[in-house]
Formats: sequence, structure tokens, C-alpha cells
Amino acid sequence: MAYKLDTLCVQGGYRPQSGGERIPPISQSTTYYYANTQEMADLFDLKGDGYFYTRLANPTVAAFEGKVAALEGGVAAVGCASGMSATTLAALTVCGAGDNIVSSSAIYGGTFNLFAVTLPKVGIETRFFDPDAPAEEIEKLIDDKTKIIFTETIANPSIKVLDFGKIAAIAQKHGVLFAVDNTLATPVLCRPFEHGANLIIHSSSKYLDGHAAALGGVIVDGGNFNYKGNSRYESFNVPDESYHGLVYADLPAAQFATKCRAQMIRDIGAIMSPQNAFLSWLGCDTLALRMERHSSNAKKVAAYLDAHPKIDWVWHASLPANKYHALAEKYLPKGQGGMLSFGIKGDVAQAAKFMEALRLITQETHVADVRSCVLHPASTTHRQLTKEELEQAGVPENLVRLSVGIENPDDIIADLDQALARI
Ligand code: PLP
Repeated sequence: MAYKLDTLCVQGGYRPQSGGERIPPISQSTTYYYANTQEMADLFDLKGDGYFYTRLANPTVAAFEGKVAALEGGVAAVGCASGMSATTLAALTVCGAGDNIVSSSAIYGGTFNLFAVTLPKVGIETRFFDPDAPAEEIEKLIDDKTKIIFTETIANPSIKVLDFGKIAAIAQKHGVLFAVDNTLATPVLCRPFEHGANLIIHSSSKYLDGHAAALGGVIVDGGNFNYKGNSRYESFNVPDESYHGLVYADLPAAQFATKCRAQMIRDIGAIMSPQNAFLSWLGCDTLALRMERHSSNAKKVAAYLDAHPKIDWVWHASLPANKYHALAEKYLPKGQGGMLSFGIKGDVAQAAKFMEALRLITQETHVADVRSCVLHPASTTHRQLTKEELEQAGVPENLVRLSVGIENPDDIIADLDQALARI
């Protein structure tokens, strides 16, 4: 029976055995005991289900992976130590030296840095595109070495909403894997596999955990991409000598997730910890409720700021005049999320004065948890970018990023109001 999303938030990913723990216990063990040698050998050959070493898989991490895979409608998921490691491992699963990624420039600053600075050091190039550019311009960046088209559903911090139809059509035409970072939308507001994506990345440190308690990342395999005989993805079609000659394209399911785990998690080891998996699993229980409240609060806050004389501009797709309003109606009909950005009239010093005057809303290098917080990206998360790169990433210098929490909206607005009165 196919359950609805809010049911999967509380019931997905784990079913106890009779007499077993009702919620997944924290399996705080690096290793597992087997009485039978063949049983263990079968696990190494991927012939059986089970665990042999927590770097490869762990029951608590598996419960969280199962829940996120169910929520996104994917076939499998791989839990990682952080959102950054999820993106890195996903890229390395398909890319080698000489390959390239075609990525939206409107992405999280850390991901931009990974693509623009770190991956080129190992010979993987990224070609950035403006997500608002026409399809013909984006297509020009693709060649036979392109392995991934990378995007964000709701871009951090430019709050641009992805035109899934446009990107999916390009990806399908060229037979390239379409990857989406769905961190700020979550499956509650948008399910990218229903709009043509093949791979989903999450920083679970954000809304999935939701309480600023656990760092983590997840890669979700859509199971909807054909690697078999596809010359662009040769590494899926040749025997993996490091894994008993396994040909990943011949596996019946979860080809990407299996290759990622067997090669990248095994060799790089950036696995999610059982403790963080437990907290993130628990966080997902209330995800549907929280996303509803984050979205309705942010809509109210956006309308308030938009009407304020000291505010230059506000970006949130709930605003009818917002450039992405129509795309949000199509792809985010249940709510546009809790993240918004705005510019304060005046210089950077005015923005700083405003942020320091806030009492309830705190300054943090974090977004997307239950408590409202603010950040000035140009001097923090995006400080490594040049002025041109900031503009390319859609981050003006006076931009203030506000992550609207689930407090009473009147209290959030009252705090903004008193802080604006001081500048
Ligand atoms: N993706 C997005 C959209 C993010 O906002 C972040 C972090 O802020 C990341 C990825 C990286 O995640 P993490 O901090 O868990 O490594």
C-alpha cells in the first residue's frame, strides 16, 4: 500500500520485529558478529542483507536512509557524514579526471567552492550556468565528458526556484544524470523524481533533522536512469576489479547507490554516524508539520518585509510579484519553504546594525531548523567568493538571509520590527 507523505514521515524506513524496539535503537557498534563464514562471505559479495562494518552500513543509518528514500520516492539512499560529503561522493561516483559537471551557479556557497576550486584539483571541471538562461545556452556547456547536471530546488541563498521542466528536458535529450539538491524544499514541498530528476542530494543537517542537532547528508537514487550500454557512463559498464568484477549497470536495482557505497563510502569513509542518523530519523517524524509551519510563517514575514519602507527588496516565491512565483505554483504548491532573503536600504553597516539589534532571531551559520536565524552571506558563508562570483551566485552584498523558524509568526515579525526601527 502506498502511504501518503505525512504518514511516511512517521512510519517510513523502519518496522520493528515483534518484541523489538519501536523506534530504531542507536546501533553504537563498529562491527557485527557472524557464526557462519559463508553468511559473512555472502555479505561481502552483496548477495545477502546484513551488516559487517559500520563504515559500509549500519542498522540505524539504514533506518534513516530507508525513511528518506521512501519520502523522496527513490529506490535506495546512502547516508553521509554531511551534506558536503554527500555532494562530493555523488560527484566522485560518476566523475573522474577529465570529466565535467554542468552546474547551476545559484547554489550553496560550499558546493560552489567544491565545484569551482576543489574538484578541479583532481581534474574534474565544472561549467556554471545561470538557471534563468534559455535551454540552448545551457546545452552548449554539455559535451561527451559531462556526467552530471547539478541544481538546487530552492537555491541557497538566492531563493531561485528551479525550472524542473527545462532542466529535465536538457538532461534527457543528452542522456546526462540530472541531480538536484533538495535540502531547502524537502520532499514535503517538492519531490524532484516526479519532475525528471535522477539523483537527489540532501544536507540532512537542515530541515530533515530540523533541530540543529545532527550533521548529515543523504544521496537518494531515483532508480530511473539507464546506465546499461550508455557509453557516457562507462564505469557502470565495465567490471569493477576492486569489487569482485561487479558490473554496476547489470544490477537489478539501485545501481548508483550501490556503486557509491561499494566504492566511495568504502574508500573515503564519510559515513553518517549512528547517533546522527538516529536524531535525523527522529527529526523526520515531524517534517510534514514543520514544513507547513515554516512555509506559512515565511509567507507572512515576506509580506511584512515587502511592505516595509526600510527594505529594498525581498525574495520569497510566495510573493505574487516574485520572479519565481509561477514556478513555485507549479513545483512548490504546498508551500515555498522557510528561507527568504532581503536587502536593507543603505550600506552593509546598516545591515550589520539591524542584525545586532535582533533579540529573538539569532545570527548563525545555519539555516532550516525550528529557530529563526539570520546571516550575512557576503561576510560569512560566501566570503571566499569574489564580487563577480557573488553576483553570479545571486548574492548581492547587502543580502540578509533569514531562516524563518516555527515560533509564533507575530513574535518573529515583532522582533524584525523593533530591529528595523533602530536603523
Ligand atoms: N546544500 C545546501 C542547500 C546547504 O544549504 C548546505 C549547507 O548549508 C549544504 C548543501 C551543505 O551541507 P552540510 O553543512 O550538511 O555539509
